[in-house]
Formats: sequence, structure tokens, C-alpha cells
Amino acid sequence: MTDYELMEAAKKASENSYSPYSHFRVGAALLCDDGEVITGCNVENASYGAACCAERTAVFTAAAKGRRKFSKIAVAGTSDGTFSAITQPCGICRQVLSEFCGGDFEVILSDLDGLHKYKLSELLPLPFDKTSM
Ligand SMILES: [Zn+2]
Repeated sequence: MTDYELMEAAKKASENSYSPYSHFRVGAALLCDDGEVITGCNVENASYGAACCAERTAVFTAAAKGRRKFSKIAVAGTSDGTFSAITQPCGICRQVLSEFCGGDFEVILSDLDGLHKYKLSELLPLPFDKTSM
């Protein structure tokens, strides 16, 4: 699975987005350590706070399948089908990723210039974890 293929899986997953309020479709593709790709999309709700981002949908789906180890995630969002700008994970999703993934976990984003790769430690340099309690 190349990073490009993972990004294509994220874009494909956005097709299932339920986003009648924002009209911003997001897909995520999470690569498990055994090579399986688990996807997610954003799921909105009339009670806005009940919505769930694509990244968390993917992580929670993976966790429900017993998965705990992941190596990278690709995220893509669009309101017009062009995926022209990067869609970075929100703070809650960065925190959720940090529960299962170390600082070297890769977050792959894209825009019209191509793929942009970040380590989770760059996006969330000081995560709240079990040592924080
Ligand atoms: Zn999020």
C-alpha cells in the first residue's frame, strides 16, 4: 500500500460522508500494522456536537475490530469534489490518534501540489496520555 493508494482510499471513503449541514465531505484511511486499511467518513448530526470526524470513525471502527496498532492515516476533505486543500485532523482526532499511535505515526494530507506528510508528534507535540493522570 503506497501513500498515494492510501490517499485514494481516503478520498473514496469521503463518498460515504453524511454531511448534510457542512456539505464538507471527509474521508480517512487508516493503515493497520498488518496491512489492512480501515476507512471512515465524517458523520454529522442535527445536534452538531454529536457529529464524528472521519479520522475517529476509522479509529473507532478499527478498535471495534480489535485493532490497536496503526502505522499511518490519510485524510482528505472536499466541499466541491476537488480535494484542492489539505484537511488536517482536528484537535480531538489528534488526541484520539495519540491513544493508539506514537509520535512517529504518519499523517498524510494532500492538496493540488501532492502529498504532505507529518508525524503525529508534529501535529500534537504534548499529548494527554496515561502518564498525565
Ligand atoms: Zn476530527
